[in-house]
Amino acid sequence: MNETSGSRTLHRLIYFSRQRPMADVDHEVDAIIRTSIQNNRMASITGLLLIHRETFVQALEGPAEAVLTTYGRIINDPRHSGSTIITSGPASKREFADWNMCARRMNPGDDAILDALQMREAFEPSKLTPRSAVRLLQAVRGIQSRSALRSIA
Ligand code: FAD
Repeated sequence: MNETSGSRTLHRLIYFSRQRPMADVDHEVDAIIRTSIQNNRMASITGLLLIHRETFVQALEGPAEAVLTTYGRIINDPRHSGSTIITSGPASKREFADWNMCARRMNPGDDAILDALQMREAFEPSKLTPRSAVRLLQAVRGIQSRSALRSIA
């Protein structure tokens, strides 16, 4: 099936938001990921969710209508606030094709990624441009793929 033609146009949306205080963040994030994998698989959505210092940065990609409908649910979720779109539009290919939703929490070993964006000291998602947001998430994808390979080896 050709994703780039007609109603199957591939769409990518990237946004950031702030976590609301939660009693058990890890538990909530696990629940979000479980729901996301289930729903996104049915809607042909792939993507990545980055969690860093109470901030979410998420990419959703798939058929335009499915991505926008999913984002419509996400912005109403009380577990975060201030959801702001960094980019939303047609894409030529999937960047996160391996995952219906993959989540990664940045840890100190990932600082090189933030260094490349000059954001180690002050991670400020409102300064991400469409281009730097894709670069950030591509870099996270690279780390995530390598650690998945290590855990298989
Ligand atoms: P229902 O499960 O019927 O829930 C009804 C309402 O309660 C919704 O507003 C829901 O957001 C809210 N809710 C559900 N569980 C909780 C809870 N534990 N605590 C507080 N409120 C709750 N969903 C996807 O399908 N795909 C994604 O990629 C995706 N990414 C997300 C990323 C982030 C950062 C967050 C915070 C949520 C994400 N979600 C995602 C979850 C999404 O917001 C919806 O909760 C989910 O899609 C179910 O929607 P629903 O309308 O069927 O809600």
